[in-house]
Amino acid sequence: MRALIKARSEPGIWLEDIDRPKVGPNDVLIRVSKASICGTDLHILNWDEWAQATIPLPMAIGHEFAGVVEEIGSEVERIEVGQRVAGEGHITCGVCRNCRAGRRHFCINTVGVGVDRPGAFADYVSIPAANAYPIPDDIPDEIATLLDPLGNAVHTALEYDLVGEDVLVTGAGPIGMMVVAIARHVGARFVVATDINPFRLKIVAGMGADRAVDGREADFVRIMDELGMKEGFDVGLEISGAGAALSQMLDVMNNGANIALLGIPTQDHVIDWNDIIFKGLTLKGIYGRKLFETWYKMIAMLQTGLDVSPVITHEFSADQYEEAFSVAASGESGKVLLDWR
Ligand code: NAD
Ligand code: ZN
Repeated sequence: MRALIKARSEPGIWLEDIDRPKVGPNDVLIRVSKASICGTDLHILNWDEWAQATIPLPMAIGHEFAGVVEEIGSEVERIEVGQRVAGEGHITCGVCRNCRAGRRHFCINTVGVGVDRPGAFADYVSIPAANAYPIPDDIPDEIATLLDPLGNAVHTALEYDLVGEDVLVTGAGPIGMMVVAIARHVGARFVVATDINPFRLKIVAGMGADRAVDGREADFVRIMDELGMKEGFDVGLEISGAGAALSQMLDVMNNGANIALLGIPTQDHVIDWNDIIFKGLTLKGIYGRKLFETWYKMIAMLQTGLDVSPVITHEFSADQYEEAFSVAASGESGKVLLDWR
């Protein structure tokens, strides 16, 4: 089968012919239809310090995907051949304290598809049947492949009650864009989004943001005045990983406000703890998706009008992977899809 392989310890990614993955007794083999490129894949492509320390070589990468079950292991009961599924890429141990308590997103032994074990940028991927999430017929493959990052967005956005609240979203990459659409969908009052990329600000403005502004020149006093906001933002959703964005957020939150942090910083950053202490802010780190409550919620929202399709800006056939990766890295893109059929 074809697979995008991290073959050597140097920047790059290579399309190669490899054997189909083995299917254990509790696994399913999935024929991948669509996949999408995530920031993690770009780290692996660029072979940065994190990638060098994490990725076993050689290995097929990729973890955002949808497809059709081709084969099931001997012990698999709930999933049938021919079932359309998307993949939950976090494989959890089932026996640690958090797993046993039903908090599998906090598993201390999580193994990542396309990070620690062979991934889905391939004709076929094998995952535990429990990680294959059935997709209803009314959700097309191009949306189903987004369920992994949409799940990050849903997990973050639903961490705090947004109904009637004024929400600040910093970072309008693909995930921030979807966070804005969710905040709108669930009934926030005002949603203000920041980014530093005009291409992305334009997309997020069309996904339900009341204001989409360049974080470097945003005048929040004026924005709040124009919107009729008197006290500050009630909920902050940090989706950029940029220290400057977090500092800005701390500055404009109301007293007693809540902040959920999904963005992963790539640099050290000094924040003013006084903002957190004297405003009585609550900050919470968000990782992955709640298994599988987030999946249930996001499919329900997609079936009741949540539209995340504007986030998809490009689609390439798998063979055009070099162009796909370069568009994804350019910043002049939302989600970039790979068609494996
Ligand atoms: P992305 O890198 O495409 O988006 C980040 C956006 O932040 C970019 O559009 C960038 O222009 C913008 N940005 C940079 N500096 C800014 C600033 N000062 N103010 C406002 N915006 C700024 O990434 P993505 O795929 O949308 O993911 C968003 C973040 O979430 C990333 O940091 C990613 O690593 C992280 N992430 C975390 C998890 C998790 O489980 N915690 C899972 C997936 C992704
Ligand atoms: Zn566990």
